[in-house]
Amino acid sequence: MNEILKCNGCGRELRMENGILKEDVFEGKKQWGYFSKKDGEIHSFLLCEDCYEDMISKLMIPPVVTEATEL
Ligand SMILES: [Zn+2]
Repeated sequence: MNEILKCNGCGRELRMENGILKEDVFEGKKQWGYFSKKDGEIHSFLLCEDCYEDMISKLMIPPVVTEATEL
């Protein structure tokens, strides 16, 4: 399978080699529920690191950052 993945923010093709993503991206996924207007819809998107930085710069309160204990 030679899937082409693109950043949803800037549309840039993400670096893939042999089907493996060669850059780290933000993966957003949400299944909307009953108390939303999108009940039953699953929304997902990818953001490259630059677009992720851009997105979090618009947040009033920055994301919670913790250190991963296992890598
Ligand atoms: Zn991007």
